Amino acid sequence: MLTDSPPRKNRAEFLESDRVKGLDMPGNGALTEIAHCLESAMKADMIRDVRSACTAFLASASNFYAVPTCGVRVLAARPLRTREHGTFELFGDYTPDSMLIRVWMRTAVRKEVTSFGTFASTLCHEFCHHLDFQKFGFPDSWHTRGFYERAAALYHHARGTPPKKLFWVPLRGGRWRIDWQRTNRGV
Ligand SMILES: [Zn+2]
Repeated sequence: MLTDSPPRKNRAEFLESDRVKGLDMPGNGALTEIAHCLESAMKADMIRDVRSACTAFLASASNFYAVPTCGVRVLAARPLRTREHGTFELFGDYTPDSMLIRVWMRTAVRKEVTSFGTFASTLCHEFCHHLDFQKFGFPDSWHTRGFYERAAALYHHARGTPPKKLFWVPLRGGRWRIDWQRTNRGV
């Protein structure tokens, strides 16, 4: 994971996005329960059930964060044109104007089925773009350290796994990348 370069405009909002590492999580297990359904549907390769689980997940999360519910399209395969240009979004995108998330179950080239972990992580990542606009009111949604931390917190909550502390390495131009060795070691 690699962060975006700081923009020329909207510096203050960018720094705020970078700074906010945490996200409140619902106290009930609703999202974890829906994620379980999603996992079963993916394992059974039942795209209709995958769709309904994604819809339920986003409705429940939107309700909790008091933002308008975003739409979702679950596609069988990756579309030719994708909007996200980052390094991480091989499996989804988000369009702020229409508040629409798209996620797909197969990679473009080899048609490999996306793993549940990657799929769930993508869904949480795209939903965090939605939160950036609708909850935080940012004029753009950057891949900052805070953004990745918020997406990871939501993902671990959904999967019922303990969150990992993320370790970052500074790069040139104000960007950061995750130090996976340290992150996986936890120190
Ligand atoms: Zn993204």
